[in-house]
Amino acid sequence: MVEHQKAEAVLKQAFPELGDAEIALLAATATFADFSAGAYICHEGDEGTTLYVLVEGEADILVHADEEEILVDTIAPPAYFGEMAFLGETTRTATIRTRTDCHVLVLDHEDFLPVAHENPDLLRRLLRQIIGHLRRNDEAVIRELNVKNEALRRAYADLAEQEEMRTKFIATLSHELRTPLTSVKGFLSLIQQGAITGDSLKAVLDSVARNVEYMVGLTNDLLILYEMHPSAPDFVYLNLTDVVIEALNAAKGAMNGLETAVTLDIAPDLPLICADKRGLVLALRALIENAFKFNPDKKPIHIKVWNLNETEVAIAVSDEGIGIPENARQKIFEPFYRVEKEGGQHLFPGLGVGLTIARFMVERHNGRIQVDSHPYSGSTFTIILPQNK
Ligand code: ADP
Repeated sequence: MVEHQKAEAVLKQAFPELGDAEIALLAATATFADFSAGAYICHEGDEGTTLYVLVEGEADILVHADEEEILVDTIAPPAYFGEMAFLGETTRTATIRTRTDCHVLVLDHEDFLPVAHENPDLLRRLLRQIIGHLRRNDEAVIRELNVKNEALRRAYADLAEQEEMRTKFIATLSHELRTPLTSVKGFLSLIQQGAITGDSLKAVLDSVARNVEYMVGLTNDLLILYEMHPSAPDFVYLNLTDVVIEALNAAKGAMNGLETAVTLDIAPDLPLICADKRGLVLALRALIENAFKFNPDKKPIHIKVWNLNETEVAIAVSDEGIGIPENARQKIFEPFYRVEKEGGQHLFPGLGVGLTIARFMVERHNGRIQVDSHPYSGSTFTIILPQNK
């Protein structure tokens, strides 16, 4: 194809709204140029009088902000750039750097002016098309900015929520520690004064021991949460009944002598499963403690273990306690999240980390935790584990 015809074909693609005669006039003023990969065709801020149409290759549009280079777009034929030069604006608004070897068509304002002078219609139609193109570009940029703005807004809201949670957590932690510490301090001072002797001494020491154990439990939970890999998991073949019994023993402190309020339903044909006993006990213990805690009328809790299907076993802990509002059911697994009563009050003690740890431990077994709950009538948390026979 001779150069002139080639220029016409390129311009037709770039400016489809122009007629054949107008394209021919434009093509008469065009030349071609080649740039190798990585070359700069024009620089932001430079004076320029040429419009370029990409014929072959790919190029990047770059802008600079705070000494940082930002890639705005990557263009391919028949994209054109430098059109502001044709609108009389001569400063480049972006830098164009070739990504691959590029072949471009070049229209210079100076060569084009005499032709435009003779053909005011051509100038009008060309400008109309360039302006439409600029407007569509602006609209696309605005749409993209809106999307980014929304993402930023969400990230900011998340950060604000995390900050609020952190502040609440510090308040909760001080409260949770202050109560048992005050009690221990009071009892120790009475013992030091010799005010408690005989049988009462044993009861008071038991209470001190319980409080200390509670504080040790809190700090252990925090350590587990912050490390999230409390010790390398030790995967061995386990009997799930043993895991349930061990978790029940570990949760005794939360039961306040109501151990009899637990009913067990363990399927007789459970397979041994390959699991980390310590992790599973921690997870199940958190569910059992919650079932007792969020259960002010101390109604019985029920633990069921069964073969869910050919490949999975399930352990469910059900209570008839206060239940969990629907909008909180996913959040309760987040660190430090606790459902609040109206007015931001918490009616039950806790740091809001038990379920975070439970989920971490269960997911470490490639398992999952499901929650089913009805406000005011109770909750069922189900751990589902692969059998790994
Ligand atoms: P914590 O028990 O220390 O508050 P968790 O992470 O174990 O922390 O639980 C997070 C929150 O989920 C609790 O504060 C409570 O609001 C809710 N929750 C958990 N288990 C139950 C349950 N069985 N019944 C009602 N609410 C529960």
